[in-house]
Amino acid sequence: MRRGSIVTVGRCFAASLALGTLAGCGGGADPFPDPGAVSCAVIGQLATGTAPVQPLQITLSKFVPAGTVSSGTTAMPDHCQVQGVVSSRTGVGGIQYGNKFELRLPVAWNGRFMFQGGGGTEGSLPSAFGTAGSAVPALAQGYAVLTQNGGHDNALLSSGPAFALDPQAQIDYGYGSIDTTTRTSKYLITMFYGRLPSYSYSVGCSTGGKQGMTFSQMFPTYYDGIVAGDPIFNQGANTLSETNALQATAALVGKDPVTGAPLYYQSFSTVDQQLFTSALLEACDALDGLADGVIDNLAACTFDPATYAFKTTSQPLQCAGAKTASCLTTAQVGAIKRINAGPRNAAGQPVANPFKPDGTTVAGYAYDGGFMSTNSGIPARDIGTATSAPGNLAFAAVQIPYMWMSPPVPTFDPLTVNYDSDMARMAANSPMVFNSTDLSGFKNRGGKIIFYHGLSDPGPPVLHTQNYYNKLASLNGGVATTQNFARLFLIPNMGHCSGGPATDTFDPLEAIVNWVEKGLAPETIAASGKNFATAPTTRSRPLCVFPKTARYTGSVGGDISIASNYSCR
Ligand code: CA
Repeated sequence: MRRGSIVTVGRCFAASLALGTLAGCGGGADPFPDPGAVSCAVIGQLATGTAPVQPLQITLSKFVPAGTVSSGTTAMPDHCQVQGVVSSRTGVGGIQYGNKFELRLPVAWNGRFMFQGGGGTEGSLPSAFGTAGSAVPALAQGYAVLTQNGGHDNALLSSGPAFALDPQAQIDYGYGSIDTTTRTSKYLITMFYGRLPSYSYSVGCSTGGKQGMTFSQMFPTYYDGIVAGDPIFNQGANTLSETNALQATAALVGKDPVTGAPLYYQSFSTVDQQLFTSALLEACDALDGLADGVIDNLAACTFDPATYAFKTTSQPLQCAGAKTASCLTTAQVGAIKRINAGPRNAAGQPVANPFKPDGTTVAGYAYDGGFMSTNSGIPARDIGTATSAPGNLAFAAVQIPYMWMSPPVPTFDPLTVNYDSDMARMAANSPMVFNSTDLSGFKNRGGKIIFYHGLSDPGPPVLHTQNYYNKLASLNGGVATTQNFARLFLIPNMGHCSGGPATDTFDPLEAIVNWVEKGLAPETIAASGKNFATAPTTRSRPLCVFPKTARYTGSVGGDISIASNYSCR
């Protein structure tokens, strides 16, 4: 009944707009038969001059019957698929730019709206199924879902980060696209359903996590609840952290004779990676009460690979003499320590964030249990594991010449970046960095934000997010009062947004909805994972609200694979 009344109102509102008037329905004959298919067609015929952001072109509006499209094994319900572009323009180099979006509007609407965050440097338009944040896509749960392209089309660019040669495209990737497409979506939702959403959510990881933080800082009224996973809010700084890791490993290896690219994957053989991990786990795994391959109590982990000796054999991790399968060379250990320490200047000091100076420094990567996990940690993205997976220079460091130098220097070799002489060349006040800790607008209107971050993330270092949260807490009366609107969950051993020997499957969308709509602030979030290196390879456990961590209690038959044997302390 509720749904029917909403759809009727929507048709009247849409009809009045199509007729060029802002008057209400007025009791006249409804020109549109059921069901939603025709209402969807009307969206495509709207006089877009009334939209809040101009120019707006609707390029597609199509009724999609249930079962026509799927995400994985989940069929999508009856819905209206809308695509369009906001602020289309010709930019630097004659390249066509614009904020493209897709909005999917389910006929059986639950009254909620979800922004599905993007990934990488964007540049394409993902299907708005709402796959971020829950096992069941949000569209299938009845959410209206928005995706957007970050303001540029990769297909029109010479390389992914080349959009940054256009100043407006930097702004659109930073915040313009998510701003304009959110406002446009709320307008279209009002046209279609006859009212604004009851609740709006921004859910995403990586770039999507950054976008949630951008809303909380710049557009605090747009979304009631935000999930910001493994956020690249300090993207320029992250790039320096990654580049430092690449430089450290490149110094250990030769170059491909054809491409000239360093053969990163040769820096640590699989045996060497496992050797390092076994030393790290021996030192720190049991500090949380259980030797299970997961370092929950990272704060207590003081590990120095240069001085560590295995407990049972007294064998030093760092070779005293020639390299063997049982030790790492001094150069290898030096590279590991450099990755951990983060970029340093010639005086050995951490590098201040050159992009939006905020008193913080560019971090390295913590000695978490997944530091050298081949499916999450440093090898997976920065080193690579074989010629077919040669590390991620193309993904991150290559952003430096285009996105992070001011002015851009496309010919700059990022592997030569110098943490003294080149820092003044970095883009101060970049519109693509969002490290403001002033969330007063968001907090004061009752907004809630959940941050989460994989401790073994080889992209954005977890320390950037942790430092941000600690700073936020210090500005808001401490952790306890900050938890009234912002909570952080750290996920041991997890890589960038997923992966690793970790409990990387969880439902932050459900957690944020319960917090916003029912006032149930999450103390724990149920999580599971199936990639553990040792039996049981499938495990569940609670993710704990920061600064608590999971401790093994063993109170339920001692099964380490079930969440009820852990408590948060
Ligand atoms: Ca452990």
